Amino acid sequence: SPPRSELQRALHTRHRAVLPDWLALSYEQPLEITHGEGRYVWDAEGRRYLDFFGGILTTMTAHALPEVTKAVSEQAARILHTSTLYLNRPMVELAERIAALSGIPDARVFFTTSGTEANDAALLLATAYRRSHQVLAMRNSYHGRSFSAVGITGNRSWSPTSLSPLHTLYVHGGVRTRGPYAHLDDAAFTAACVADLEDMLGQTRGDVAALIAEPVQGVGGFTSPPDQLYAAFREVLQRHGILWISDEVQTGWGRTGDHFWGWQAHDAAGPPDILTFAKGIGNGMSVGGVVARAEVMNCLDANSISTFGGSPVTMAAANANLAHLLAHDLQGNARRVGGLLAERLRAASAGLDIVREVRGRGLMIGVELVFPSTGDPSPEAASLVLEAAREGGLLIGKGGGHSTNSVLRIAPPLSLTTAEAEAGAAVLERALHTAQHELSGKATP
Ligand code: PMP
Repeated sequence: SPPRSELQRALHTRHRAVLPDWLALSYEQPLEITHGEGRYVWDAEGRRYLDFFGGILTTMTAHALPEVTKAVSEQAARILHTSTLYLNRPMVELAERIAALSGIPDARVFFTTSGTEANDAALLLATAYRRSHQVLAMRNSYHGRSFSAVGITGNRSWSPTSLSPLHTLYVHGGVRTRGPYAHLDDAAFTAACVADLEDMLGQTRGDVAALIAEPVQGVGGFTSPPDQLYAAFREVLQRHGILWISDEVQTGWGRTGDHFWGWQAHDAAGPPDILTFAKGIGNGMSVGGVVARAEVMNCLDANSISTFGGSPVTMAAANANLAHLLAHDLQGNARRVGGLLAERLRAASAGLDIVREVRGRGLMIGVELVFPSTGDPSPEAASLVLEAAREGGLLIGKGGGHSTNSVLRIAPPLSLTTAEAEAGAAVLERALHTAQHELSGKATP
């Protein structure tokens, strides 16, 4: 039989022949992951990698967490699925848990199968409740890939059309490192963004339904606004009756360390009107959802069902996963180990002029890379580091705004140990040096 790498190449060729060109793959030689355990995954050639990306934050606790595997197989052995037409114990149990954790009073939960669909549901609620199809979204945002979600995605490299069922107005505030307010301190930045919002609303005709925002922009490069920015926004929003939707698809479940939800860094605002979640809660199973207070959730006056949202198998996975997260205080672990990892990465970057900034919260750490000669965002550097890290047995992600893809995204499973953080930081340090060496002396492209 041909060597394994031949098989991998053949699979890649078949992938390219039958799947869309725009389904992005990481790495020059794309990976086929065959199994995982804890914070590690293995590829089809038997190579082991420390996983600092968890399939874009889908692995919340650990790969192949035994409690989740057990819950899924037991539930699947009993019954795979029925639809929301019948009572569903695991769904009610998970909804109760999430409603209590959400911070939203009199909360109702609707389950979907993805983050895109969760945001879609949130937009349906907000636009129906407010009887307006005008929405505010943040510049550089990412909210999914459906027709309505691309219409509120400010990160244009992920938004393929200018057509949208919504009329979207883009607001400043999600990104600190670029744009006209980049040089301002936190207080002045917040004041400038609030003034911008007020000015925009003053020039808008008719009602606006909602503001949707990621508390820390994920795809946009792990950038956080100053704490309490959304509290300052909320005062303005409430004056206009505009709802606040917090997209917690990446920031939920304690990933940011100091907070269980990203919105809590803006807690002077109180809880959001609507919260969306997905990714990590299912630990790889398709679970997403939207939480809203009853008055907003129940504003829809047509019947609905979801065939797959709230499937007993995925609910069983999420219940077991969430129970593990809470019992082991993985939020606390994210704070402690994430803090240590960010510190190591800052030390590793000292003296490297390709690194503009190491930033983040908990186990959501971004490393922004630039061209040494100009200080401009450098997707080349990010690609070099990504490939070199893989060579060193470490998987990371990248992101960033405006097609730049110049930010390394580090978001390991929340059970990451100190030793694993140290080991990953050492690989990244070498990878950063490799990129620095390759790029220094090169002219800007
Ligand atoms: N919102 C945010 C903040 C996301 O990061 C993503 C996925 N990257 C989505 C929504 C869409 O989620 P999904 O891919 O599950 O549709």
